Amino acid sequence: MQTSIQVGKFFGIPIRLHFTFLFIFFAIIITFASWQPTESRIPLGLGGLELSPLMRYSVSFIAAILFFFTLLLHELAHSIVAMRFGTKIHSITLFFFGGLAMMEDIPRSPAKEWRIAIAGPLMSLALGGLLLLVYLTLRTLSMYRPIAILVLTIGVFNLVLAAFNLLPAFPMDGGRILRAILARRLSFLEATKRAALIGKIFAFILVIMGFTRDPFSYILTGRWEMNFWLPLLAIFLFMAATEEERATTTFATLDGIKVRNVMRTEGTTVREDITLTELVNAMLADKTTEYAVVDANGELRGFVTLESVKKIPVLQRDVMRVSDVMIPYDDPVDALPGDAPASEALKRMLRDRKGILAVIEETGVIGIVTRKDISFYLEMLRGSTPE
Ligand SMILES: [Zn+2]
Repeated sequence: MQTSIQVGKFFGIPIRLHFTFLFIFFAIIITFASWQPTESRIPLGLGGLELSPLMRYSVSFIAAILFFFTLLLHELAHSIVAMRFGTKIHSITLFFFGGLAMMEDIPRSPAKEWRIAIAGPLMSLALGGLLLLVYLTLRTLSMYRPIAILVLTIGVFNLVLAAFNLLPAFPMDGGRILRAILARRLSFLEATKRAALIGKIFAFILVIMGFTRDPFSYILTGRWEMNFWLPLLAIFLFMAATEEERATTTFATLDGIKVRNVMRTEGTTVREDITLTELVNAMLADKTTEYAVVDANGELRGFVTLESVKKIPVLQRDVMRVSDVMIPYDDPVDALPGDAPASEALKRMLRDRKGILAVIEETGVIGIVTRKDISFYLEMLRGSTPE
């Protein structure tokens, strides 16, 4: 399902908006238009000003646009540093809670990862500082109040964005910076485990702060209050730490293993012109649920799985052929040589949300590799190597 749309390009990087971003966009407009500055020590909304509805919502709309741009600048800062290290940036997507730069092959070098990670918070910090200076100047000049409040709010937002991103927990930038620092002395895997543990401890502290006294509401209102957003954020950080650790462990375990080690070679191809009934019989005989599909010359044409046959009524399976239901071969991303690293196969399947790849040599298709094959292989590796 298409959940985001491309809205433009910056430095050649496609900028995408996720549909959840719309919610935050309207939430900002409404919140900014009605927020009462008297509740807070810092005037962060137009609620306390006498304004016509048109003026109120126009300024709020500009606030939402500026919010979008500063978030984008944060992600662009990460991306530009990464591009200088030769990393390809797929796209930048803005979500409900922030942005995400989709990078290919984030460098596994602490010196680079740290610089990529810190660029975002530094950008937000600089923007925040700059906007606060502009606010102070506007205030001294007694400039039009809504504009001054707008500048201040976006400035404070950027400082909060920088602060949150520096939290030492995955997937915040601070988690990556922490791992890069730890990876100077430890292996990448050990550093990830250590950083994930610190992130989990931090999440626990956030839960306690949320149920007792929240420093953010103290800064804003001067009162110690409870803040139930913090436990929610903590759950998110806890899950992200677990996931980062799991993914890193998987890739570290696959280190040095080649596609030919994890691939299956027996009963892995079928001809595109056989009927679906013949296909199901072949699956039963070969005890498999997926095949690479080849033509009469042995050329790879696509993939077929039990899932694609299940949708077809039994009566039609005698007339329909594999070529009618197969997933067409996407050249060259669906195939790898036997000597390619197994981690590359897994990376591609995760990236393209696919479950199967073909292994190709000069002679043609020599086997297939599925996500199941890789997890099965990992399971066996873990069972055979003492911890
Ligand atoms: Zn960031």
